[in-house]
Amino acid sequence: MKSEAKPMLKTTETTAPLGALSPEDERRLDEMFAYVKEQAETFVGYPCRGRFDYSPLHRFLNYPINNVGDPFAPSTYRVHTREIELEVLAWFAELTHISAEQYWGYVTNGGTEGNIYGLFLARELYPSGMVYYSEDTHYSVAKNLRVLNMKHIMIKAQPNGEIDYDDLYETIRIHRDVPPIVFANVGTTMTEAVDDVTRIRRMLRELAIPESYIHCDAALCGMTLPFLDGAPEYDFRAGIDSISISGHKFIGSPIPCGVVLAKKRYVDRIARSIEYVGTLDTTLTGSRNGISPLVLWYAIRSRGADGFRREVAACVEKAKYAVRRLREIGMEAWRNPFAITVVFERPAPSVLQKWQIAVQRDRAHIITMQTISKEQIDELVSDIEAAREEVKA
Ligand SMILES: *Cc1c(COP(=O)(O)O)cnc(C)c1O
Repeated sequence: MKSEAKPMLKTTETTAPLGALSPEDERRLDEMFAYVKEQAETFVGYPCRGRFDYSPLHRFLNYPINNVGDPFAPSTYRVHTREIELEVLAWFAELTHISAEQYWGYVTNGGTEGNIYGLFLARELYPSGMVYYSEDTHYSVAKNLRVLNMKHIMIKAQPNGEIDYDDLYETIRIHRDVPPIVFANVGTTMTEAVDDVTRIRRMLRELAIPESYIHCDAALCGMTLPFLDGAPEYDFRAGIDSISISGHKFIGSPIPCGVVLAKKRYVDRIARSIEYVGTLDTTLTGSRNGISPLVLWYAIRSRGADGFRREVAACVEKAKYAVRRLREIGMEAWRNPFAITVVFERPAPSVLQKWQIAVQRDRAHIITMQTISKEQIDELVSDIEAAREEVKA
């Protein structure tokens, strides 16, 4: 018998329920579902698409799919979706302007994992490097720098959330003896501010720094800027070394996920071959979820670049509309160029309670994702106005 031949024995029925729930547990599940459905109605403060339909993928949930290890290397674990994962990566490589021979990457558990991965590569390349990141950087980064035990300095942010270039320049200049690792935000969490990667690259050249690394955190904007005319360059074209994009934010996914891409030659340096799973241990986790690549693939194939372009345009329109409506009731509301995040004064607690709005000190924001309607914006604005009247009364 040749080794590729199919085994004769079939496994036992794979789709039979493993047991039954009691009526009480059935009710518990129904309640949980009703809760999720209801909460999705007032989900306006987070940059995640609020609804989607991936029902053609439900059948995959009956199998122990695992994309363990390097998506580019073969594995002895064959219940996987890695071929689809590679197609997803190729799509993102084209989107971020890196050629097929030059990139490596994988589908992650979210933007955070991609950011850790980028920092990890930077540390392996430059163990003595110093990480620079603005004070408006996502909260997870400071913690992950501790996990990775990397030296770091926080840089001031401008009022709009963009990194303070003068502070960055001066700080790098003082520490010229160690390679700079710049963690650039392409869309900060609170104001969706975009750090100018081209300017940062130029700065490093001006300072005659021979070794440096730029990681780009494009959690949300990695899926908006490519589809907006005149948007700044932030990707491999602009000289970055790695990038992390969330999959469950703009694209939308029932499972948090994302994509990380990096220059292949960096990753080759950390690859280790593992006999047990017959693959390369280049990813951060061992077992990897094989459902997320299907979700991303399905979204990309069914909506396409044209679909995303239309979605982004509609989101920007709604953001402009929200700014206008909020200003009409005398709120100080604004948005960064190209942003779908609308920043305004922190509203009364009753409004935050009802609308799931994220706040930071005196600021609040909504993100006008695809699933948010103008009617919802109108209702939110009138709630904010009413709550203000209450406070005054
Ligand atoms: C959401 C976000 C992250 C974290 O991404 P997850 O996908 O939630 O892990 C990182 N950076 C920025 C700017 C974000 O908005």
